[in-house]
Amino acid sequence: MGRNVAIDGPAGAGKSTIAKRLAEKLGYIYVDTGAMYRAMALYVMTHGIDAANEEKVAEACGDIRVELAYEGKEQQILLNGENVTGRIRTEEVGNTASAISVYGCVRTKLVALQKELAAKTDVIMDGRDIGTCVLPDAQVKVYLTASVETRAQRRFKELREKNVDCDLEEIRRDIAERDERDMNRKISPLRQAKDAHLLDSSDMTIDEVVAAIMALCESAEQTKEKNG
Ligand code: C5P
Repeated sequence: MGRNVAIDGPAGAGKSTIAKRLAEKLGYIYVDTGAMYRAMALYVMTHGIDAANEEKVAEACGDIRVELAYEGKEQQILLNGENVTGRIRTEEVGNTASAISVYGCVRTKLVALQKELAAKTDVIMDGRDIGTCVLPDAQVKVYLTASVETRAQRRFKELREKNVDCDLEEIRRDIAERDERDMNRKISPLRQAKDAHLLDSSDMTIDEVVAAIMALCESAEQTKEKNG
């Protein structure tokens, strides 16, 4: 098994920014599992499938092939061979991903792919169920969170910087709704794993969060060396 770092947490907690920086420092591959759920959501949306219809989504699962590729360090996501990396970042795709990620057929397919990747190489993986389900034996597990207000403000700023027209109240509502669904679904709900370190980034800078997780990785490495 490769060395694994698992980062879980709600939408907008800063997981991907932090995980990318850590991957660079550690020399691990960064795996954004949310992008895989988003790619499946894109398929559902572009094929006119009702995300609320589990049977139809399950039927479509067999026709969907999700793969990861890397351009330098940047993860690219392929949907049935087509690079869809630039098309999965909208709020609509995110909300549809959250809606279909409650289904067992979707999770089984993607969790298998994620486990396969982590078995082959050193990875830092972020998502909602990495520490609890995908990588239960990860050397370092972090549950990264921040208040709904902070996360909404960050998202608002990010979209504004990209000149995307958006409404703070709507973003706040979407985040709260997504939290509710991700935390309360039957299969693999978003939870802090028992052995995960809790980090609340509301009043922390990116550098501070990265440094805190690096310290955890170093300490895990030292323990591993000590124990042979
Ligand atoms: O992290 P991101 O916002 O891109 O994820 C989109 C949605 O995919 C999440 O709201 C969540 O419902 C789902 N997801 C999941 N398990 C993961 C990663 C994402 O259920 N490991």
